[in-house]
Amino acid sequence: MPLRLEGSCACGAISFSVDSHAPYPYQLCYCSICRRTGGGGGFAINLSADARTLKMKGKRFRRILHAPITEQGHTSISSAERHFCGRCGTSLWLFSPEWPELLHPMASAIDSELPVPPSRVHLMLGSKASWVQPNIGPDDQCFDGYPTDSIEDWHRQRGLWIE
Ligand SMILES: [Zn+2]
Ligand SMILES: [Zn+2]
Repeated sequence: MPLRLEGSCACGAISFSVDSHAPYPYQLCYCSICRRTGGGGGFAINLSADARTLKMKGKRFRRILHAPITEQGHTSISSAERHFCGRCGTSLWLFSPEWPELLHPMASAIDSELPVPPSRVHLMLGSKASWVQPNIGPDDQCFDGYPTDSIEDWHRQRGLWIE
């Protein structure tokens, strides 16, 4: 049985639930977008869940950001949808049309208990803010860009995938 994640925004206008086979909050993203939209400590933690199981209350308060991405002086608009509460600004989840079966809730918006990860992955360290000093454990992995393993791979390799 997958784990049901229950989440909400800070003002209470939006609440949601979604099922996850891979609920460990191990993936810390230091990119400039996560940092601004949901990571005041310099990173945000993105989970992975089954998009088809999403249930949501307060849909009319939900807003979607397609963030601009600037690389080598060239700006484009990200295809990824960052869903947030339009009333209080809470970051809720990320959805990429390229992977429509997946939904990536922000761990910060989850109210239910999450399992504690045995190690962590630090990604997009190439775009971290200069003042952020990542707390890197002995078994952690670090990447300047995206990690080589998917969230599913990471869970399966450690026997943590929940069928
Ligand atoms: Zn809200
Ligand atoms: Zn990010």
